[in-house]
Amino acid sequence: MKPFQYHQPTEILFGRGRLNEVGHVVSRFGCRCLLVTVPDAPEFRGLFGRVRDLVTAAGVAVSHFDGAIPNPTTEVVGRGARMARDFQADVVLGLGGGSSMDTAKAVAVEATHPGTVWDYLFFRESQPTPKTLPVVAVTTTSGTGSHVTQVAVVTNPAEKNKSAVFHPLIFPRASVVDPELMMTMPAGVTASTGFDVFAHAFESYINPNGSPYTDMMALEALAIVAKSLPAVVRNGRDAEARERMAWADTLAGLCIANSGVTLPHGIGMAVGGFYPHVAHGQALAAVYPAILRYSYQTVPAKFAAVGRLFDRRIAGVRGLKAAVMSCAVLERFLKRIGMDLSLGRLRVPKEELEALALQSLVLPDYRNHPKVATLKDVVKILEESH
Ligand code: NAD
Repeated sequence: MKPFQYHQPTEILFGRGRLNEVGHVVSRFGCRCLLVTVPDAPEFRGLFGRVRDLVTAAGVAVSHFDGAIPNPTTEVVGRGARMARDFQADVVLGLGGGSSMDTAKAVAVEATHPGTVWDYLFFRESQPTPKTLPVVAVTTTSGTGSHVTQVAVVTNPAEKNKSAVFHPLIFPRASVVDPELMMTMPAGVTASTGFDVFAHAFESYINPNGSPYTDMMALEALAIVAKSLPAVVRNGRDAEARERMAWADTLAGLCIANSGVTLPHGIGMAVGGFYPHVAHGQALAAVYPAILRYSYQTVPAKFAAVGRLFDRRIAGVRGLKAAVMSCAVLERFLKRIGMDLSLGRLRVPKEELEALALQSLVLPDYRNHPKVATLKDVVKILEESH
């Protein structure tokens, strides 16, 4: 068997109703908590106030930073970090989708270190130290897996660059995954975040850094996505399918924390950095079909294994033919969940594809793709995706 190592320090509290334990969980890590969320809105149905009350009832003082935004920026993190310092927070609670949880992680770094979070990106010499505040995460999407990863994705609009802090100190100490919180996600957010789960599991599975452990979890996550994602997009009140998607999100997050992502995420991050109005899952969905066609010949058996989870008719087919069929099956799946997008539809200007291609090769993710892309390859993928 392939030698591997696996690391996961986050305590996971999974299940319906587990949100009720959040106060006790937070109180184990501090007594002054900065709660990080997006601005309150009717669709959250009082969730933020409820969490604030639960944490306060556990004897923890709470200050609420409600300035997180989708694709959080350095400016947003700066404001959150100032608030954490002024309040003398000793624990940060990220409540929401990946954007809120990543903001919480980034605030935990910036509030305790000189400079800004941008000075602590994964490739910089300066890295977070143990002064970093402990983070607790409560996820409301399924999702980014951020509740179990050591990653905080941040966008610097001045540089049109979306990059990440990647450090074991920002693994949430504990995460609450309560599928009841995901019931309020609209169909569009459900589909977009659900496709991110697919992408994490798929890219972990085809990643040369994968292991028998992550492969096992990735295939389970993909099997769940195949069945349950169309079900929750159709009916957001399907509690069992929501629960299964929350589990798939968690499994896929555990995968990427150990194997990492590949070319689609490299390109998707570049799209998000250039065009912050594009949701992370949308950026991925727009480029996936072209990347599948570009890649299937390199790892045909893996493509076939994934394709069989999405369409049983591939079961009796072998070799390259099964891999080709898998590409078509996955493209049809995107259509089924309403994510058959193109870069053109997402208002990405054609004239900027070359610059976008260059930016796609800045993060190291593309080097972990089974077929390592050149600039020319990426331009072609982007053109096909437009
Ligand atoms: P998000 O956090 O940006 O949320 C998307 C929208 O859905 C927002 O408007 C939000 O308010 C709303 N929303 C969230 N939960 C809801 C609910 N339960 N009911 C109603 N509305 C709800 O979306 P996301 O996809 O979870 O996060 C995307 C961010 O996470 C991106 O910046 C992406 O790059 C990053 N990301 C991080 C990691 C990681 O490991 N840290 C991995 C993948 C992606």
